[in-house]
Amino acid sequence: MIKADNVTYEYRLSDEDDACDAKKALCNIQFDIKHGEFVSIVGHNGSGKSTLARLLNAFLKPTGGTMWIDGLDTSKDDNLLAIRQNVGMVFQNPDNQIVGNTVEEDVAFGPENLGVTTDKIWKRVETCLAAVGMLKCRYMNPNKLSGGQKQRSAIAGVLAMRPKCIVLDEPTAMLDPKGRKEVIDAITKLNKEEHINVILITHYMEETIHSDRIYVMDSGRIVMTGSPEQIFSRVEELKSYRLTVPTITYIAHKLRLSGFDIREPVLDVDELIDILSVMHGGEDICL
Ligand code: ADP
Ligand code: MG
Repeated sequence: MIKADNVTYEYRLSDEDDACDAKKALCNIQFDIKHGEFVSIVGHNGSGKSTLARLLNAFLKPTGGTMWIDGLDTSKDDNLLAIRQNVGMVFQNPDNQIVGNTVEEDVAFGPENLGVTTDKIWKRVETCLAAVGMLKCRYMNPNKLSGGQKQRSAIAGVLAMRPKCIVLDEPTAMLDPKGRKEVIDAITKLNKEEHINVILITHYMEETIHSDRIYVMDSGRIVMTGSPEQIFSRVEELKSYRLTVPTITYIAHKLRLSGFDIREPVLDVDELIDILSVMHGGEDICL
């Protein structure tokens, strides 16, 4: 579905004399993402995550190498429309993504622009709002929604254009924990049930545990790749890239370092409770 073949990106920086200098934001990126995969991208600020996201929907073209989306080269202008239709984007600030007076108008905006007929649009709006658990809010003013609801309706708006892939660039960064959970649950469900490719960029490690694969970025390169289990068992290496592991994983890691017999990594709280209760002679533990 998405193939990065030795992709490099350099921003052109002009100084006062209009001489151009180049800043390399991505270096030799290589990956292959299959249909239906859920991939998370993590990395410290400035590691190149947003630049990579902009290359995925052909907002930027590689300055070296080739980016392929469903077999289409993103550097060819003739492919732009098909690529933008195939790759939906959701950004950090939910307020910047509101265009309509009601939630359903907002969701209808994308397909309207694609020239979809009115009766089909309303069917799609209904299906997409239901997919993210927002059908009950369809007649509401989007500005009155909570952050989590705004992001879910932005996701419904992207879904209404029937993309094969959704790229979310820190979609939960401005949300409270409840809103974050709503958004992550919605995208996990879309991936598992509708088999939509999800590329989730986040700095909350907890949000990546349901992905098929995690890419860790540092200084414009992919420096680690693997399943959540593989990545989160490399606590010290992650630290060297100024990253942490999910809190539960870290607690389990610390317990193991202090002598507890725990097989790492532990990814969720129920798993840790099970392990501790076995050690505790099978008695229930309340956390
Ligand atoms: P991240 O999303 O991981 O924080 P970015 O992709 O935004 O990283 O940035 C990667 C690098 O590219 C950083 O060094 C950043 O300063 C630089 N950069 C990002 N956007 C621009 C831009 N529009 N012009 C010049 N440099 C940029
Ligand atoms: Mg960014």
